Amino acid sequence: MTEKMPALFIGHGSPMNTLEQNRWTEGWRALGQRLPAPRALLVVSAHWYIGTTAVTAMPSPRTIHDFRGFPPELFAFQYPAPGAPDVAGEVAEIAKPTQVALDGGQWGLDHGTWSVLAHLFPKADVPVVQLSIDATKPLEHHLELAARLAPLREKGILIVGSGNVVHNLRLLDWQKPDSGAPWAHRFDEEVARLMQESPGEVLKSMAHPDYANAVPTPDHFIPMLSLAGLAAAEEGRPEVMFESCTMGSLSMTSYALGLTA
Ligand code: ZN
Repeated sequence: MTEKMPALFIGHGSPMNTLEQNRWTEGWRALGQRLPAPRALLVVSAHWYIGTTAVTAMPSPRTIHDFRGFPPELFAFQYPAPGAPDVAGEVAEIAKPTQVALDGGQWGLDHGTWSVLAHLFPKADVPVVQLSIDATKPLEHHLELAARLAPLREKGILIVGSGNVVHNLRLLDWQKPDSGAPWAHRFDEEVARLMQESPGEVLKSMAHPDYANAVPTPDHFIPMLSLAGLAAAEEGRPEVMFESCTMGSLSMTSYALGLTA
C-alpha cells in the first residue's frame, strides 16, 4: 500500500534562496528530511501563470531561468529532475471537468519550483510535474481544482504549492531583511488563522483591509489556495511553518498538511 503523502505550501521569496544558506533554506532542508519518499512531485508554481491549465508532460523538463538581474551562478543552476508523463496524464484525468493541456516542451521547471526543491529534494532524483495557474479563472476555481487533486496524495504524489501569501514587490523595504511592514504581518497572521481554523474559507481574507497591499496580483497567493483546497477536501488543518516576513512586503510563511513524525 502506498503511504499517503503530505502536501505543502512553501513561501519561496527571492530566487537567491536557491544558492543561499539562511534560516528559510535551512528550514526547507530540515523539512525535506522529514518527508516520505514520493513517487513524484506535483508543483503549483506562482511563476507559471498563464491563460490555461497545463501540466509539464515531458520526460526531461528543462531548468528555466525566468528572471533578470541575478548573478551568473543563478543562471548556471540546473535542477535535472526527471519528468513524469504518466503522472501528468493522471493529473489531467483527475482534474476534469477542468481541461488540462499536456505540455510537451513549452515550459519546464521554473524558479518557483527549483528554488525550493533545491533544498527539499537536493538530489533532484524525484520526478517533477508542474501544474500551471490559469490566470483567467476566479480564485474559488483554484480551491476547487486543488480539492479534486486530493486523491493523488494516496498515489504517492506529494503536492507542493510555491508562492508567497504576502507578495508586493513595489513595497519592498531593503532596510527590513528580517521583518515585514505591520500590514504584511497583519495579513499573514489572518491567513494563518483561517488556514488553521477553516482552510476552505481562506478566501474570507479577501475582505481583510490589508488584502490589496498583500495581494496586488494573485499569482503568488494562488499556490497557497491549492494547499487550502487540499486541506478542505479532507477537513484537514494545515500546520504553520517558518512564519515570518522579509523585505517589508514578502511573507515566507509556509504550511504543511498531513506531516507526521
Ligand atoms: Zn516568486
